[in-house]
Amino acid sequence: MTTLKAFKYRIYPTKQQAVLLNKTFGCVRVVWNHNVEVFNKFDKNLTEQEQSLTSTQLKQKFVWMSEVSAAALQQKEMDFKTFKKNYFSTSRKKKIGRPAFKNRDSNQSYRLPNQKFTLRENTIQLEKIGKVKLVLDRAVPVGCKFMSVTVSKNKCGQFLASVLVECEIIAKPKTGKFIGLDIGIKTFLTGNDGFIVENPQFFRESQAELKQAQRHLSRKKKGSSRRKKAKLKVARIHNKIANRRKHFIQEKTTEIINLYDFIGIEDLNVAGMVQNHKLAKSISDAAFTEFYSTLIYKAAWYGKEVVKVDRWFASSKTCSCCGWKNENLTLSDRVFECLACGLKKDRDLNASENILKEALRVSSAIRTQSECQTEIA
Ligand SMILES: [Zn+2]
Repeated sequence: MTTLKAFKYRIYPTKQQAVLLNKTFGCVRVVWNHNVEVFNKFDKNLTEQEQSLTSTQLKQKFVWMSEVSAAALQQKEMDFKTFKKNYFSTSRKKKIGRPAFKNRDSNQSYRLPNQKFTLRENTIQLEKIGKVKLVLDRAVPVGCKFMSVTVSKNKCGQFLASVLVECEIIAKPKTGKFIGLDIGIKTFLTGNDGFIVENPQFFRESQAELKQAQRHLSRKKKGSSRRKKAKLKVARIHNKIANRRKHFIQEKTTEIINLYDFIGIEDLNVAGMVQNHKLAKSISDAAFTEFYSTLIYKAAWYGKEVVKVDRWFASSKTCSCCGWKNENLTLSDRVFECLACGLKKDRDLNASENILKEALRVSSAIRTQSECQTEIA
C-alpha cells in the first residue's frame, strides 16, 4: 500500500528569483481567471459559445507569460479542468459553487510536476527559476516517488516549497499496548495507563502577544505604511503559533503511534464546546481538530488503529469499575467517586478507562488481552 505525503520547506530565493516567483504566481492567476471569466459567460441560449484559450494560446497573446514556467501554467489549466469535472459531476453529494476569481490576496502559489523540479540537500531546482536555497529540516525517506511541488508565499512574505511524494507504507512494530485517551481543557491528554500530555502553555503566551499586536494594528490609519508594518507583525505571530502547534501535534502523535497499537479516543464536539466562551480560548489553542486528523492519518500510515468513541457516551459520569452513573457530576469535580462500589479516582483517568473499554467494544477486532489490562489498571 502507498500513501501521499507532503514535505514542506522554507526556501530562500535571491531577489531576482523572488521577482520571477512573484511573476509566476501572477501568470498562473491569469490562466485561472481567464478560465473563470469564460466559464461564467456561458449562456445556454447562444449557439456559439466562447471557448477558453489554452495556456499556450494565452502565452501567444501575452508575450510576458513566456518568462515563467510553462508547466506551472499547464498545471493551473488542469486544475480548472478538474474543477469543471467536479462542478458537473452528478455523483457529487454536495454541489460546489461557481468558480471565483483569484487576486493577489487569495492565491500566491503554483505547482510543478515531478519532471520540472529536483530536490537536493540544500537546494531545490525549479523550472525557469533555477537553484533556490532551501533548509532541508526533514528529509524525504529513501524510495519515495516525487509527484509534484507547490511553491507558495505566505502572508509574512516567506517562500515555501511543499513537495508531494508517494511512499510505501511501512508498519511500525507492534507493541501489544492499548490506550484510552481523554481529551481535556486542563490536561490535553490523559491516558488510562498514566500517559499524560499537558496543555501547551506557549499557545497562551503567543495569544497574549497576538492580542497586543492586533490592538496595535487597529489603531493605525488605513493605507498608512505603519498599518502595513503592523499587519505584517500580526501575520508573523499567526505564523509562529501555527508552526508551534504543528510541531507539538507532530511530536505527540508520533509518540502515541510508536507506543500503542490501539488507541481509543473521545470524539469531542469541538464546535459545540467552543460556544462555551470560557473554554473557547484553550480549546482552539489546543487545536483538537488538528490533533485528531494527524493521529488518524498517522495510524493509517503505520498500521495502528484509532477508534473514536461517540461524543454522547458518558465517559466522565460513568464508574469505570462497576458502571454506576453519577448524573450530577460537574466540570469542577476533579475526582470521580462511585456511590455504588466506592471507587475514588481522578476524573480524567476514570474517563480514559471508560473510553478504552467503549472503543474496544466498538472495534470489531477481538481483543481479549486488553480487556484484562483495563481491569488491572
Ligand atoms: Zn463503581
